[in-house]
Amino acid sequence: MASVEIRNVVKRFGALEVVHGVSAEIADGEFVALVGPSGCGKSTLLRMIAGLEEISDGAVVIGGDIVNEVAPKDRNISMVFQNYALYPHMTVAENMAFALRLARLPKDEQKRKVGEAATMLGLGGLLDRYPGQLSGGQRQRVAMGRAIVRRPEVFLFDEPLSNLDAKLRVQMRAEIKGLHQRLRTTSIYVTHDQIEAMTMADRIVVMRDGNVEQIGTPLEIFDYPRNLFVASFIGSPS
Ligand code: ADP
Ligand code: MG
Repeated sequence: MASVEIRNVVKRFGALEVVHGVSAEIADGEFVALVGPSGCGKSTLLRMIAGLEEISDGAVVIGGDIVNEVAPKDRNISMVFQNYALYPHMTVAENMAFALRLARLPKDEQKRKVGEAATMLGLGGLLDRYPGQLSGGQRQRVAMGRAIVRRPEVFLFDEPLSNLDAKLRVQMRAEIKGLHQRLRTTSIYVTHDQIEAMTMADRIVVMRDGNVEQIGTPLEIFDYPRNLFVASFIGSPS
């Protein structure tokens, strides 16, 4: 497991500053939801933690080490996106083995790890299918499988369930939370769905316009919203 610390992180795209010096400390094994309206900087912040986006100022610290200069693949992180990002010409097994193949893991090791992840996700019978032959929920499971085969210490999710129907979403919330607990990872979960955040997270980070408005447990945020924005966003009476 690894803690994640964001220290005064700033992001500018040219002259436009979209993240204004955000700080947060996420403990080993914690499940933190990052919420806020569309365009407030959630994805940008997550991509900076993953190393997919350069930070303009500040530091990202993973497991006690500043990783600003560390390549994404060396950050001990896996990210699950909203749009699955599966390779259509590869089977489920090949999609899941992709990172392991890049890491030049022996074939039999790849197979064992993919098999393990597939069992965990209920994908055992689908390993030879192509993404086009899967349902939305199955595709999202493959995307998670691809992320967990490497056994990262930190999991980043960017609205992973927003393309799924309501019923499946509820089921997948429980599955994601179960994986988090079983693999003992640290998870940062971006969502614009307050209910998802309230039901899944140990703590919630509420963002607005590139700033953090409040960090607290779901109950703290619901019972003691710091301002009207947090109250109305989370839906607590104010
Ligand atoms: P969220 O995920 O909360 O919806 P984003 O992090 O995607 O928000 O975007 C935050 C802000 O940064 C938005 O105003 C968006 O338009 C802007 N932005 C994101 N990526 C880029 C980019 N590559 N170039 C310029 N502006 C960007
Ligand atoms: Mg986003």
